[in-house]
Order: sequence, then structure tokens, then C-alpha cells
Amino acid sequence: MATPSDYQRLLRGAALRVTGPRVAVLSAVHAHPHADTDGIIGAVRRDLPKVSHQAVYDSLRTLTAAGLVRRIQPSGSVARYEARVGDNHHHVVCRSCGAIADVDCAVGETPCLTASDGRGFSIDEAEVIYWGLCPDCSTGQNF
Ligand SMILES: [Zn+2]
Ligand SMILES: [Zn+2]
Repeated sequence: MATPSDYQRLLRGAALRVTGPRVAVLSAVHAHPHADTDGIIGAVRRDLPKVSHQAVYDSLRTLTAAGLVRRIQPSGSVARYEARVGDNHHHVVCRSCGAIADVDCAVGETPCLTASDGRGFSIDEAEVIYWGLCPDCSTGQNF
């Protein structure tokens, strides 16, 4: 279990000023992977009851820009945030209830970055979203 001082160290490591909202947001994203902004605000307010929406939005933007938090936004969904960064994993999303789970890269390290034809772009990230039905939604459905 990470402690506030671990999050302070992460912030300093990214050359960010340590602020209460940033530490609380970082800890909320670690505790609730793939939470949306409302979920994160709810979690942050358990630590900092008076934090403003704006402070949470600003912290999320700063943390995302610094690479401490990853923002994902499946089509039709609001933005979700997670603290699992740097490993280029993918996501599987349930079409019915919107549940999101992590999926490791299909073949080892980061083969998706080796596009068959990069069109001359220098590629540093591949985002794959698998769509389907989660176990809860697929049981009880008659096809
Ligand atoms: Zn589902
Ligand atoms: Zn994830």
C-alpha cells in the first residue's frame, strides 16, 4: 500500500510541486483504476472534503501531462484515469455496462508500436480497445 510520502516522491520525481490536491488525486487514481472524474472527486473528498472540482480537474491535467496518470477515453464513455502508466497495456470495455479491465499487450513487450506502415510518423504509443461483454453482462443473455 502506497503512503502519501510515496506520492510526494512521485510528484517530485516528475518535477511537480507537491500540493494537497495532487497527492489526494494521485492516491485516488491508484486506489480506483479507470475511475472517471466524478469517481475521483468523490474519493479525493474523503481525504480533502473541501477540495474544489477545479482543483481536481487541474491536478488530473497536470498529472496526466507529467505522465504519472494515464487518461483513457473509450468512445461513448467519459474520460477515465489510471495510474498504470508506461507499460502500453490495453483495455477491454463492456458494451453493455461500460466496465473496463486491463489487458496486457497481445504479444510481449510493445509490438503494437511496430506498425506495419508508420506512414513516416515517429510512433510512441498504441492504444487498443477491445469491445465486448463483461462476464456479468454476458451471463444471462440469450443469443
Ligand atoms: Zn458489463
Ligand atoms: Zn488500464
